[in-house]
Amino acid sequence: MRPQTVKMLAAECGFELAGVAAAEPLPDFARYQEWLVAGMAGGMSYLAGRRGEARADPRALFPAARSVICVGKLYNVEGESRGISRHARGRDYHHVVGAGLKRLAERLRQAAGPFQGKICVDTAPLLERSYARRAGLGWIGKNTCLIREGFGSWFVLGELLVSLELEPDGPPPDACGTCTLCIEACPTRALVPAAQGFRVDARRCISCLTIEHRGPVPEELRALMSEWVYGCDVCQAVCPWNRGAPVTSDPAWRRA
Ligand code: SF4
Ligand code: SF4
Repeated sequence: MRPQTVKMLAAECGFELAGVAAAEPLPDFARYQEWLVAGMAGGMSYLAGRRGEARADPRALFPAARSVICVGKLYNVEGESRGISRHARGRDYHHVVGAGLKRLAERLRQAAGPFQGKICVDTAPLLERSYARRAGLGWIGKNTCLIREGFGSWFVLGELLVSLELEPDGPPPDACGTCTLCIEACPTRALVPAAQGFRVDARRCISCLTIEHRGPVPEELRALMSEWVYGCDVCQAVCPWNRGAPVTSDPAWRRA
């Protein structure tokens, strides 16, 4: 099956972005381990240990996997980002993306015949952003988000691991250039240089502090958090690639 067919079927299931990566280890795993060793995962202990090691290879998660179909679903809405991150303003994206991937698996079976598959939405131990990059969905910006030219970064990711050998896509070039707007705009200085590019220090990131962190927020960060109570959109809102980004037409993310 050609990559174009996968994209067409994914679009029919509500995914604006789609691509294929081989179900093989990626060099990004070494960077992931460095990030963990540097303590930048903070209290998110589920990212380390056995579940951390499983991220080395998608076949550890699903032995039959030969290809990773990566999808992106737009959640951008009109208006400013304030207080609550845009991704959390509609229905729970785990359900929305999971239902779309189930439809996609059915459509693929109709087109390609029987195969084994596993749906992943955020919670599975998989380097999903790295596979999405490899599948051509975008480059990883200095704000550590996946960005797609002409589309921006307001999209969530999901994956379908399949036993099919599909023709893979390739990663697009990095187009951040000399821009540093997100680094300068981050209220808590959570985007820090790494050996290659930038990484996020989750201990300082408002998104992590308001969603994942348990216990009191360190005093020196409280004053910097402004009005954010669930997530933080600052480093995406300032990104030039998000100027004029398309808004979703899916009712799941439209405000009632
Ligand atoms: S989400 Fe907010 S706090 Fe986290 S890196 Fe981006 S701008 Fe900084
Ligand atoms: S704001 Fe600039 S540096 Fe940051 S992700 Fe966007 S293009 Fe890249």
